[in-house]
Amino acid sequence: MPEPEDDALALIQSKPEGVLQSELWKEIGVDSRKCSRIVKKLEDNGLIERVEFKKEGIKTFLLRAKRLPVRAEDLLAGDELIPCIACELECVVEECHPLMDWMYQLAIVENSSK
Ligand code: SF4
Repeated sequence: MPEPEDDALALIQSKPEGVLQSELWKEIGVDSRKCSRIVKKLEDNGLIERVEFKKEGIKTFLLRAKRLPVRAEDLLAGDELIPCIACELECVVEECHPLMDWMYQLAIVENSSK
């Protein structure tokens, strides 16, 4: 079962424009005090940034995910490099067969390592 920290981080990462802390706790189903602890932990771990924000005159924080450097191992499915590197196709991610094949390979590799 996902922890509230995981839910909070996933939600923040899914919104490039950011999430207001005053709305986050409602979205992830915790109280505002617990939400503050979660946000502090994510910030202390360098996963998000928090900037002051006023909404309707009330102070809150805008939370945004930090961009982390890509790890080389995240680009590999076994020894197969993700096809997006140096791709010259017209990109329609939802219909991309090379990417689907690579993700299938990734699932096989990850399953065999369990
Ligand atoms: S998703 Fe497919 S088309 Fe788009 S960059 Fe990656 S490999 Fe190329």
